[in-house]
Amino acid sequence: MEKYDKLEKVGEGTYGKVYKAQDKTTGQLVALKKTRLEMDEEGIPPTTLREISLLQMLSQSIYVVRLLRVEHVEKNGKRLLYLVFEYLDTDLKKYIDSYKRAEGQILSRFPSRVIQSFLYQLCKGVDHCHSHGVLHRDLKPQNLLVDKEKGILKVADLGLGRAFTIPLKSYTHEIVTLWYRAPEVLLGSTHYSIGVDMWSVGCIFAEMVRRQPLFAGDSELQQLLHIFRFLGTPDEEKWPGVSSLRDWHDYPQWKPQSMANALPLLEPEGIDLLSKMLEYNPSNRISAKEAMEHPYFDNLDKSQF
Ligand code: AMP
Repeated sequence: MEKYDKLEKVGEGTYGKVYKAQDKTTGQLVALKKTRLEMDEEGIPPTTLREISLLQMLSQSIYVVRLLRVEHVEKNGKRLLYLVFEYLDTDLKKYIDSYKRAEGQILSRFPSRVIQSFLYQLCKGVDHCHSHGVLHRDLKPQNLLVDKEKGILKVADLGLGRAFTIPLKSYTHEIVTLWYRAPEVLLGSTHYSIGVDMWSVGCIFAEMVRRQPLFAGDSELQQLLHIFRFLGTPDEEKWPGVSSLRDWHDYPQWKPQSMANALPLLEPEGIDLLSKMLEYNPSNRISAKEAMEHPYFDNLDKSQF
């Protein structure tokens, strides 16, 4: 790791600390991520190798954060792997928060053009992963990196979710957020599909508009109840098979609220797209590819992407 000057810690993800660093020879800024993908006696376990090559392959898209290199390090008798990524100056959570702080000073609504462009880029990145047979499974604003200057958004933290099942607590025992988790996952379904990511995309879309999370539960039950209160409690008619899911119980009965009233800043096409992302039945939920063709994006100049 002598190749790099560690500059500062920029974040803590589910799997470890992330440092901003500079390549001493080229001057390039990079993000160093120490992984818990430890090497065993034989070297890198084959599952890890598969993860890494998958990550490298997927990161060929400009809508996925690029994995530049993988470095092996020996430390206190342990052999660790560092992933070296291209560096981006912020993430979507920090970006949304910067608008929150500006509130009150006549400033500053997250411009709807930026929301539209970020959502389109997010769909592009997600579609890229899905078309290579990879689910992200943990999409959230902290995992979406933003180049403020160029207005670019990229999907990060990809692939590792397959080597490890998503833990309930991070390595620092911080609770992993449930806010973007699809109802079928919360209800114990083990058959994940691309719908789990599209649900998260919907929650992120609504959060950009509201500048606060849509469903902010602090337990799996609370998370479900937030969703049911807003979208109405699902039943066999809305979502065939729901009552056979492992963690289904008799929940309080709520009627759906009006999405347009809850998100007055979002235009009708946006409301329509959001409702298709937050569709209960995962097999009817809109895909990333379909979303990109939705009328919400009609006035976006797609040629720039
Ligand atoms: P992650 O483990 O990917 O969730 O990363 C945790 C945090 O580290 C993110 O929310 C970002 O703020 C930051 N981060 C991760 N990767 C990068 C990167 N390539 N460039 C800049 N910051 C990053």
